[in-house]
Amino acid sequence: MKWTIEAEEELKKVPAFVRRMAKKAVEQQVRKSGRNEITADDVRAGRERHISFIEKQKPSGERPTRIAVVRCDIVAEVCPGVACFRAFHERHCHFSTYGDNTEIIGFFTCGGCPGRRVSRLVERLEPHGLDVVHLSSCMMLEGDYPRCPHRKQIKKSIEAKGIRVVEGTHH
Ligand code: SF4
Repeated sequence: MKWTIEAEEELKKVPAFVRRMAKKAVEQQVRKSGRNEITADDVRAGRERHISFIEKQKPSGERPTRIAVVRCDIVAEVCPGVACFRAFHERHCHFSTYGDNTEIIGFFTCGGCPGRRVSRLVERLEPHGLDVVHLSSCMMLEGDYPRCPHRKQIKKSIEAKGIRVVEGTHH
């Protein structure tokens, strides 16, 4: 992956404690779009999209980022969630931008179509300082199970509460 000089300069403006995470997030984003050169605009967009909410935390002495994972009620019949937790603990895939000061405070199923208990459980987590909700990869990907047909509505309902949503966990 090639970085332009302007992109490198832009990256230097990101606070040191999240710079490595920012670099990773931008590279992932550009790779996804099929390009192999990173521009200053890519850095600005990636910083805004993936890092700005973490930047607001101080490196130490601040409260952790608190996340929850919602997963498919149907898939949960056969999946104990090992891959989601592994991805979180190893900070890879959709958890790669989080620092050490991050904790999972909720891990629950949607309650069945059309995601009937998501709103209620997100509301129960809000007083505990919920910052981000991940929609599990089993909801987002077409594979052994069909992609969740209600994912967009579920996402919207969470965002309407002012909570950030990330699409995916371990894929
Ligand atoms: S709403 Fe989506 S995630 Fe929930 S059970 Fe139905 S298909 Fe699965």
